[in-house]
Amino acid sequence: MNIRDKVLLVEDERTIRSFMQAILTANGYDVLMAGTGAMANTMIASHCPDIIILDLGLPDMDGMTILRNVRKWSKVPILVVSARSHERDKVEALDAGADDYLTKPFDIRELLACINALLRRQGPQVDQVTLGNTALDLGACTLVCGEKRVQLSAREFDVMRILLRSQSTILSKEVILARVWGYDSDAVENHVEVYVGFLRKKLHSIGSNIRIEAVRRLGLSLIHISE
Ligand code: CA
Repeated sequence: MNIRDKVLLVEDERTIRSFMQAILTANGYDVLMAGTGAMANTMIASHCPDIIILDLGLPDMDGMTILRNVRKWSKVPILVVSARSHERDKVEALDAGADDYLTKPFDIRELLACINALLRRQGPQVDQVTLGNTALDLGACTLVCGEKRVQLSAREFDVMRILLRSQSTILSKEVILARVWGYDSDAVENHVEVYVGFLRKKLHSIGSNIRIEAVRRLGLSLIHISE
């Protein structure tokens, strides 16, 4: 089955957005749209797009802020499409982790070529962490077990990645909290439990033979149940 690539289009100008949506849809992409930075942040975390097309001049925040935030946890290709045409804007965006930069007005063929190139570049290097019969696909934010796969939200993905990377070492909830939510967030250990609950359901749904075990007073660890 050929799964269509999911493009998140972050653009506040309605006419440009509709125009780009029409072009991208006609070229076989699934298009998600965000008109504000806040909406973009939510959609990036919950929909794990395959590529993000990012405008920099947004009504509620600078696109550069979104770019820097996303790069803290994801390698998803980001193509900046902006009216800012100074060389220093381009350099700043590329330094912050943008994969490419197009200046408005752009040529549609150039836009499509950029998207294609970035998706292909992402394609073959499927990076994954494995335990037992289960793999975490780091590019697609999915848990994979044989033929079955399940999409993870950004938080679920971060928690799972930390657990998998530490393999069977016990991690305290405090450590997980600090690494996933950051030291200065308002999140509490209960947040970790909630996300672990989501992950247990997802692991179960794909028939994984790994379990997230709670170790009394110490924290959490992954165990691999052999048949
Ligand atoms: Ca704009």
